[in-house]
Amino acid sequence: DVLEETEQITHKVILLGDSGVGKTSLLVKFDTGKFQAGNFSATVGIGFTNKIVTIDQTRIKLQIWDTAGQERFRSITHAYYRDAHALLLLYDVTNKTSFDNIRAWLGEIREYAQGDVVIMLLGNKADCGIQRAVRREDGERLSREYNVFFMETSAKSGQNVDLAFLTVARELKYRQ
Ligand code: GDP
Ligand code: MG
Repeated sequence: DVLEETEQITHKVILLGDSGVGKTSLLVKFDTGKFQAGNFSATVGIGFTNKIVTIDQTRIKLQIWDTAGQERFRSITHAYYRDAHALLLLYDVTNKTSFDNIRAWLGEIREYAQGDVVIMLLGNKADCGIQRAVRREDGERLSREYNVFFMETSAKSGQNVDLAFLTVARELKYRQ
């Protein structure tokens, strides 16, 4: 058997992005493997979910926070950002406005989050081919400009959902 060790610290991960981009759906998919069509309540979120992932024989504890009803730009308290170790910043590839708002989100993050916070930009709803309004390369370009990780995901199909969280966990493990 391979010996596993558990990191003592818990990493706080926060899901951010406009309302309706799929934050709750992404977390539910990662946590349970299930996708539920239809809106989760915009105001009642699931709070946070503790998940343990294994990276190179080390168990990494993630406390993943789902923002609900606080998505409106600048309404999230700055203290909420301040102790975050990683941020998953979502837009919806079928919603151009949610992509255009990413710059404002990144500005807010740069202002209030820790300087070494891990940031992952996610273009969610990648399964919605026909309604796509944001090209993959536009997401890639923005991520390069801000020097953040980037993936397209689908909470519906599961595309890159585990990989997004595992990539963040790996970065948190080796960054310290
Ligand atoms: P939140 O406001 O950011 O938490 O977004 P929700 O998780 O409540 O999702 C908003 C809507 O988008 C719901 O109707 C979801 O079923 C839908 N949705 C979320 N993620 C996906 C996805 O990857 N693909 C598709 N097709 N729909 C999604
Ligand atoms: Mg939600």
